[in-house]
Amino acid sequence: MPPVIEARELKKIYGSTLAVDGIQFSVRKGEIFGFLGPNGAGKTTTMKMITCVSPRTSGTLQVLGRDPDRDPAAIKARLGIVPQETNLDPDFTCHGNLVTYAGYFDIPHEKAAKKADELLEFVQLQDKRDVAIDKLSGGMKRRLILARALVNAPDLLILDEPTIGLDPQARHLIWERLRLLQAQGNTVVLTTHYLDEAARLCDRLVIMDNGRILVEGSPADLVKQYVGDEIVEVEKSIEILACLKETGMGFELFGDTIQIVTDSARDVARILFENCQPKKLITRQATLEDVFLKLAGRSLKE
Ligand code: ADP
Repeated sequence: MPPVIEARELKKIYGSTLAVDGIQFSVRKGEIFGFLGPNGAGKTTTMKMITCVSPRTSGTLQVLGRDPDRDPAAIKARLGIVPQETNLDPDFTCHGNLVTYAGYFDIPHEKAAKKADELLEFVQLQDKRDVAIDKLSGGMKRRLILARALVNAPDLLILDEPTIGLDPQARHLIWERLRLLQAQGNTVVLTTHYLDEAARLCDRLVIMDNGRILVEGSPADLVKQYVGDEIVEVEKSIEILACLKETGMGFELFGDTIQIVTDSARDVARILFENCQPKKLITRQATLEDVFLKLAGRSLKE
């Protein structure tokens, strides 16, 4: 089956800014594919090229088998887009927003009205059907934008930071809907700077930084390949460092923290407690944050 999106040497230059620096990726049908990276990594710019909003500077790009520079209208008709900004129309109700949007796809009014009700139910906003936009919470607005993106029954759903600024409960609701959409056969592409979002949702992802793709893979494989299973962290001190060297254990320093990557955090913790008397010790699973730290040399949150 041909990929839903295929990019090669894709580049975008704004004036003197190299926003996207020759990236390569391909999205398969039915997967949730993520672009994870810090602010300024080039994620939104990549989405803008995919959604025919901004032309590429060079490279090749195919979306649903077509070139966004040549066939933008045909591509846009088959895309569902959730932009980063909340650009709902304040003059309409929830239902009105969906029906108005359906008009851009030449969906007849009666059909659009019915579809709008179905979609309001899908995003659990049926109670807010006739409510004005300014009466909605942030999470409700994001859900309405998701419903709006589904009005034209798209073949590909693109979301730019779908849960930015939302509380945990509101985020979980969106994640659950996205998983449901995937289960119904949809292909979903999203950008995020949230590690937990990427780890929970994405089948595969790329980690971007400074316009480039650092790595690509499934969250679990990336963590395993670039970091390991578990991590033990102890506070740095001269005594601990000396003791660790004596045990022969490998470790890395990150600021005031000593990290030991291991298959068994419990065994390492036991050895440290028995031999080194650490003041503070924690054990945890390795995460995508550790992958980013290792590859980019800094935290994703900085
Ligand atoms: P992300 O979505 O990962 O936060 P962006 O794609 O928004 O990153 O930005 C990538 C880089 O391109 C940044 O350095 C940003 O300042 C720059 N950039 C984005 N949009 C524009 C624009 N319209 N004009 C000039 N520079 C831009």
